[in-house]
This record gives sequence, structure tokens and C-alpha cells, in this order.
Amino acid sequence: MKKLTVLGSINADHVISVPYFAKPGETLTGHSYHIAYGGKGANQAVAAARLGAKVSFIGCIGDDDIGKAMKTEFEKDGINTRPIKSIANEMTGIAMIQVAESGENSIVISAGANGHLDEAVVAEFESEIAQADYLLMQLETPLPAIIQAAKIAKENNTQVVLNPAPARELPDELLSLLDMITPNETEAEILTGVKVVDEASAKQAAQIFHQKGIQKVLITLGSKGVFVSENGQGEIAAGFRVNAVDTTAAGDTFNGGLVTAMLEDKPLDKAIRFAHAAAAISVTRKGAQSSIPTRQETLDFLS
Ligand code: ADP
Repeated sequence: MKKLTVLGSINADHVISVPYFAKPGETLTGHSYHIAYGGKGANQAVAAARLGAKVSFIGCIGDDDIGKAMKTEFEKDGINTRPIKSIANEMTGIAMIQVAESGENSIVISAGANGHLDEAVVAEFESEIAQADYLLMQLETPLPAIIQAAKIAKENNTQVVLNPAPARELPDELLSLLDMITPNETEAEILTGVKVVDEASAKQAAQIFHQKGIQKVLITLGSKGVFVSENGQGEIAAGFRVNAVDTTAAGDTFNGGLVTAMLEDKPLDKAIRFAHAAAAISVTRKGAQSSIPTRQETLDFLS
């Protein structure tokens, strides 16, 4: 069975419902406070594992109870957690999320242990990248280690997939090491300067990624699906129509599903269909990792 290594963030999401966002100096009473397990790296690793991939996860947690609890949860999903490093005297990363009655959210992140995912950590777990068939990364951990991991992957014929979220500008050096990039519309705009509003503009943005040396470009378009471009031939692959209640982790589920199907040597169009199905199920449920479906649920949805 082919193998996936995910490198990325692990966060404890502290979610509190509020009538409106607290103003400067104001103390506001919220309700329905809960802690959810999140972080884009963790979500994508969990998605791939639930959807059938053999997954190793390179990440960092603090030496606290929440970090240990999350690691145990990853193990329940069948993820190899050996490359998750516990950082002494540091806290696991957190996201403080206020959800207003309007449905909007406001998020503040403290990187905590995620900020320690440096080149030394990558070097320690180099074999997990070298022996994998695919490496999947995002941008919630420090860039130097992401670049180093991509270089190791390239040297060892491991396919490199980057979900460039959250959006930030990236050096050409990293882009040239990628086999596939999966931005959403906002991330595509920040990376290419092209405002993605329709098929023509998506094609323009994709061309820029191709010029930087990336073969496969998938720009996700929310409920509209994804613009997929391989070597300049691009088209929209529509997603599934569902009753969306919470789109948190839709992109993470899509990425996990996509890479899982590619590990099984599915052609790109079939891999996208599988990823669309998994992501569509996830938007019909509340939460991040809790909304990610299993492989069987996804296959049932597709049948
Ligand atoms: P992100 O969450 O990273 O911003 P998108 O919103 O582009 O990513 O969504 C990623 C994928 O999730 C889409 O390509 C699609 O498969 C699925 N998706 C997102 N929103 C919906 C929706 N409302 N209905 C059905 N599928 C959706």
C-alpha cells in the first residue's frame, strides 16, 4: 500500500458562541464553549486516514494534556504518530474562535509548538518523507522546514502537494518543488495576483502556477467545485449539491480525499470526484475533524 506523509499544524480550537464580537475593553458573556481538535495539518492527516490512506504525520505538540489527548485521537484514526514531536516547556498550538450570531467568526491563533516545526525536526524525520509516495503540506508551520521537506521529497521521488493555506506569498524556490498546488480562490489571488472570479480568471491564475513549474493546479471554488488544470488544459470539475451547514474543514477534507485517491493511482478526474464527495459530506455536518467522513460513508455517497 502506498504511503502519505502529512507535515503541518496541530491546534486545539477553543470555540465560543457570542452575540457579537467583543469590543475593545468590553467583557462579553458567551455560551456553548467547547474545545475541538483542529489545525490544517491535523485535519488533513485525519481526513486522509479516515478516507483510507496509510498516513504518517510530522508535527509538534506541547508537553501538555491537550497535546497528548490529540495524539491519542490521531492513533485511533490509524495515523502513525511517531513523527509527532513533543516540545518541552511549550504549549500545543491554539486557535481562539468567536462565532457570532450572524454566523461570522473571528479567529486568533497562537502557534505554540507549531512554531517549533523547524529544519531540525524535518531532519529527524527525513525517512518519513523519503519513504513516502506523497507529501502533503499547508502553511500553518514555519516556511524553512516546508521548503526543506519539499527538497527531501524531490530527491526521493515523493510527490509534493501544497495546500497554500492560510494564504501568504511564497518564494519561487518552493513553488518550483511542487507537483501539485491546491489553493482556494483567495489563496490563488494572493499567490498569482489574479482575482479568481470565473473560469477564465482561474485559467489565468493556473497558467502562472504552471510557469513556476507546477504541473497540476487545482483551484477550489467552494460549492462550485474546483478548477483543475494539468499542463495548461483547464476546466471546472463541479462538486456535489448538498445542504451545507458548516464549511469548516471542507478544504482540508478535499485535500485529504484527493491525495488518498491519488495514492491509489486513480486518474485525476476520479480522485477529484472522491474528494468532492468527502468534502460535500463534511459540509453537511458541524465541526472540523468531527465532520470528516469515513471511506465507507464516502463510497456510499458515491454509489
Ligand atoms: P476552503 O475551505 O479551503 O476555502 P473551498 O471552500 O474552496 O475550500 O472548498 C473546498 C471543497 O469543498 C470544494 O472544492 C468542494 O468539493 C467542497 N465544498 C465546499 N463548500 C461546499 C458546498 N457548499 N457544497 C458542496 N461542496 C462544498
